[in-house]
Amino acid sequence: MIDIDHFKQRLLDERARVQEALDYLHEENSGAIEDEREEIPSDNHPADLATSTVDREIDYTLEENEERVLAAIDAALKRIEDSTFGTCRSCHQEIAIERLEALPYTTQCIDCKRKEERG
Ligand SMILES: [Zn+2]
Repeated sequence: MIDIDHFKQRLLDERARVQEALDYLHEENSGAIEDEREEIPSDNHPADLATSTVDREIDYTLEENEERVLAAIDAALKRIEDSTFGTCRSCHQEIAIERLEALPYTTQCIDCKRKEERG
């Protein structure tokens, strides 16, 4: 049987980490916008502007990724409440413990995941 308490704790820990990362990204983004507003009028360095644009794109990608993980964690916590945690959403078989250990918020067993990836 699946140790629900163990996975719930794993999910809550992961959730706290992701939330912290998101808070950090939000702070960094708002800070970067203010920095630029101060720097552009006095001195125009095209190279610096290019660098900061790239940096921000990376931040947004990271942020989007973290938000997706956060949503997946919340969904997994809901499945724990519904007693459906650890069940594959495609074939309704139990997901292997090793897979849940690696990815506690996964919704599919490895077989269905591979089938889906193949298309
Ligand atoms: Zn499956």
